[in-house]
This record gives sequence, C-alpha cells and structure tokens, in this order.
Amino acid sequence: MNDAAILPHTPAQLQTEHFDVLIVGAGISGIGGAYHLNQQCPDKSYVILETQDSFGGTWWTHKYPGIRSDSDLYTFGYRFKPWTSAPIATADEIRRYMAEVIEENDIASHVRYHHKITDASWSSDTKLWTVEATRSDNGTISRFTCNFLWMCQGYYRHEKGYTPEWAGMADFKGQIIHPQSWPEDLDYAGKKVIVIGSGATAATLVPAIAGKCDHVTMLQRTPTFFRTGKNAIEIADELRRLQVDETWIHEIVRRKILYEGALFTKRSFEEPEKVKQDLLAGVKHYLGADFDVDKHFTPPYRPWRQRIAFIPDGDLFQGVASGKASVVTDEIECFTATGIKLKSGGTLEADIIVTATGFNLNVLGDIQFVIDGKKLDFAETVTYRGMMFTGVPNMAWVFGYFRASWTLRADLVADFVCNMLNHMKVKGVQSVVPALRAEDSNMPLLPWIDPENFNPGYLMRGMHLLPKRGDKPEWQHNQDYWAEKDELPKINLDDRAFVYK
Ligand SMILES: Cc1cc2nc3c(=O)[nH]c(=O)nc-3n(C[C@H](O)[C@H](O)[C@H](O)COP(=O)(O)OP(=O)(O)OC[C@H]3O[C@@H](n4cnc5c(N)ncnc54)[C@H](O)[C@@H]3O)c2cc1C
Repeated sequence: MNDAAILPHTPAQLQTEHFDVLIVGAGISGIGGAYHLNQQCPDKSYVILETQDSFGGTWWTHKYPGIRSDSDLYTFGYRFKPWTSAPIATADEIRRYMAEVIEENDIASHVRYHHKITDASWSSDTKLWTVEATRSDNGTISRFTCNFLWMCQGYYRHEKGYTPEWAGMADFKGQIIHPQSWPEDLDYAGKKVIVIGSGATAATLVPAIAGKCDHVTMLQRTPTFFRTGKNAIEIADELRRLQVDETWIHEIVRRKILYEGALFTKRSFEEPEKVKQDLLAGVKHYLGADFDVDKHFTPPYRPWRQRIAFIPDGDLFQGVASGKASVVTDEIECFTATGIKLKSGGTLEADIIVTATGFNLNVLGDIQFVIDGKKLDFAETVTYRGMMFTGVPNMAWVFGYFRASWTLRADLVADFVCNMLNHMKVKGVQSVVPALRAEDSNMPLLPWIDPENFNPGYLMRGMHLLPKRGDKPEWQHNQDYWAEKDELPKINLDDRAFVYK
C-alpha cells in the first residue's frame, strides 16, 4: 500500500522526516512521555508535534481568571519531579514546573509547535505511520514517518469549548464567552456577570471575579459536590521545616494523598450517604445555617459519579457568603436582550454571560486515521486496558484517571509504552497490534465506560465515538489507580492479546 495514495499530499511535494516515536501533544502527558523515553529508551529518536505555540496543553489553553488545578500537584505532578509548594496550583505554576522538566531533560529541541496533525496512515508493508501536520504559522504541510505513535492529545478539543444552544442567544446584547476562549483583555469591572455551570471551571472563576465585577451569579441546573480545606499539606510543611530532601517529601506526600484518596473512593461506594454528609458539612461551614445547601450544593447523584473539585479555603462559598457572588439553581428558558429568563419565571440581568458548560470530546486528536488504506472507525475497536486498541498497530494513547490525578496514569502508561518498545527491540519485531484472543470470542462488548460509574456530559455526548470495552480487566479502561499501579507494570507482553510482526 502506498501511503501517498491515501494522504492528501504526494511525496514529490513534501520532504519526510523520520522518528522512531512521534508524540502527539505537548501537555503534561506528552512532556512526561518524552522524559520517560529519554530515561527508558535512550536509543529512540522522537519528536513531539503540538498544535499550539507553547507547551502545557490544558494549562496553556485556559486563560480565564483564577485558572488552577482542582486536584493536588503532588499527584498531578510527575512521580519523578518533586512538587515543592502548595498543593492546588495556578496554570502559571504548573507551566513553570513543566518548563523545568523540559529544561532539565533537554526536551525543547524535540518539540515542534504550530503543528496540527490532520492525518495518520499506517502501512503494514513498511510497518510505519505516515503523519501529516498543517503548520499554523506558515500554512505549509509537514510530513513525518514514525514506527510508533504515542497519543497524548488529551480528551477535549482545545480550539473550542462546548456551548449548548439556547433560545434567544442572538438577542443578548452583551458578551457570551466560553472560558476556554477567554479574551485576555476582557474588562469585567463594574459589570454583571452570569457564569452558567457548576463544575470546577465555574467554581474557580466565580471566586476569582467576585468583588472585581459588580456581581457574579453562578447559574446551575444541577449542583456539584465539592471538597474544601486549606491549600496546604501539614506534613509537607513540617518535613520542609525539618529540611528533609524534597524528593522524600514528594514521595511521602504522594503516598499520604493516595492512601487517603483510596479510602475516600472506597467510602464513596460503601457509605455514600455518610460521604455526602461530610462533603456538605464542609460547604455549610462557610455558608451558615440559613443558606439553602440542600437546594444549591446537594447533587442528586452519589459522590464520585462526577469529578469532585477541591475548593481551597472554600473561596467559592466565601464569595457567596459575602454577597459578592450568588448561586441560582434553575433552568434556562431563554436568553433575552439583557440577560437570562429562567424556567421558574425569574430573570437574571447580565452584561457578560460565561458558558462554563464543558468540553467537546476530542477523539484521537481529531486526526483522520487510515490503516492499510481503510479509514479507522475507532468506535469499532476494543480497548486494551485503555492504552491500545484492537486493529490499531504501534499506537498507544494516554487517558488519565477521573478519580485520581491524570498524571498518575500518564506515568504508568509511559512505563508500559517504554517496556513495549524495549520488548519489541529484544524480539526483533517492528509492529504490535492488540487482538481479541480465542477465549475472548464470546466476550460481551460494552460502551467505553459504565455511566453508572462515571458520567460527565462530555463523555456521555461522545460515548458513541469511543472504543468498546469487554468484561475482562485486560479489555477495560480501569479507573482504579490503586489496582493499576500494580497491574500495569506486570502486563505479560507475550500474552496472545499482542500480535507481533
Ligand atoms: C481547567 C481544567 C482543570 C483541570 N484540572 C485538573 C486537575 O487538577 N487534576 C487532574 O487530574 N486533571 C485536571 N484536568 C484534566 C486535564 O485536562 C488533564 O489532567 C491533563 O492536563 C491532560 O493533559 P494531557 O497532556 O493528557 O492533555 P491536554 O492538556 O489536553 O494537552 C493535549 C495537547 O495535545 C495537543 N493536540 C491535540 N490534538 C492535536 C493534534 N491533532 N495535533 C497536534 N497537537 C494536538 C493540544 O493542543 C494540547 O496542547 C483539568 C482540565 C481542565 C480543562
């Protein structure tokens, strides 16, 4: 099969560069992948292609006021690079940390910015991927070949967030803004702002602008669970006072957080009502007895069915308690010229409406994949532990945890990819593709994730685009870090689920 036949450009027009490994995306996963390749597969050449003009992914795309992590940086940070300050961090702090990783490991020279990958085509004849990227800085097309594709493209489309269509949106005379495309010069001083949504983004944005705008209202259809507490980890501060090495502190604090995280997750399944009351007690502490916590902060689902953001020092609730911010739990009837009409009959006035309504799921980086001349239908594949896919050779992707920090899994997947690359070298083979084994032939195939287990909107909207899972551990994307940390390093790479050539 001649790749040129199924890619938009012919070889005559384009120079082709070759790398052993091509990493898609320079976010926390892609930069981590580069580090692990350097360490574990130093003989492999690699390149990182990134659409944007800098590294950071999520932490570069999002520029709204207050942008910060919703989980701690001891576990969101890499296992190999100590995090040395407060656990909840701003996007700038996370990027500074990533910049150090890039600098310390000489990764910068491997990254090509402004490269949006549009096409990837696998040839079983050459055992190579041919990848085309459009350059946003000069409009030209670049072509690469690689032996292995490492998909670190994240889970949502960075160009544009998800905004539902509401009646009357065109009538609204003010500005409608999605936090993913926040204009850096937006002047909200003295303005009335409505933030639609109740997730981590709304919960970050509302306290960040409360007191700086005239008033901010968080308008939600359904409340969300939040955790509150100090943005500090006492044991970390104590160990620092004792001048313990930062590498030790990082490891100790990670273990503590992961131990407590495991208990919390277990309790959420075993005694959801008690966990719910604990979470609500944290909210009530800031809002006082008269506030209707049942209506505004008590979700209809059990804890952990959606991500639970950490609210440092309860700043969201402090904003509400101070009167600078308010929460309205209602449904939108329509937009009007001056704000929003609610289904309950009330109206909210606004100069600016922020739609913190989520993401558009990005499946495989919106790249058109072709395998031996045939367009890949990703939804037809079955996932091997949420890392590889049946029928898709020499490709791994990183999809992190929902109930634990994303990067914990990025590190584990990186070990798996490096082990696989080293294993293939020892075996003297050029390709590996997951395939269902004879014993899997009658295995029921289920949607990517069980909605009873976890059901955020962007996944529910995009489930039909995602690969299938089976009912055995090896054919599922397990959301359990505490099981995977032991299971993934022990994967038998000679299992018949891997077909080598
Ligand atoms: C506001 C916000 C806060 C969050 N906070 C947390 C948190 O505290 N803890 C947590 O665990 N998770 C958090 N998450 C989830 C978060 O997205 C991930 O944890 C993590 O940052 C994802 O990293 P990534 O590198 O895998 O993907 P991303 O950060 O999404 O980066 C992917 C990169 O790939 C690039 N890319 C995609 N497609 C292509 C293509 N076709 N060609 C070239 N480049 C491409 C993108 O431009 C992007 O730079 C948060 C998400 C958001 C939106």
